[in-house]
Amino acid sequence: MIPRPDLQHVHEPRPGDFCLICGGIPETVGVFVPENSGVWGAPEGKTRIMRYCLCAKCAKKKNIAERVEKIIRAELSGGGFKC
Ligand SMILES: [Zn+2]
Repeated sequence: MIPRPDLQHVHEPRPGDFCLICGGIPETVGVFVPENSGVWGAPEGKTRIMRYCLCAKCAKKKNIAERVEKIIRAELSGGGFKC
């Protein structure tokens, strides 16, 4: 499988990025890949990848993966999440 060119820089912060939790300056870029992409609105056979940013402070918080997943879920169901 050949990686898509845009995925090579997926872990680098981009202009316009902000911390998913507090809206602060991003330091860490994470990628959330759900096990069952169909549930997350991806066409069958396609993997849905959600990219998110965290600032240095939020990246150190407890249960951050859980909180990120909750926020992504809420934003997807509200239709406000752009990937
Ligand atoms: Zn933050």
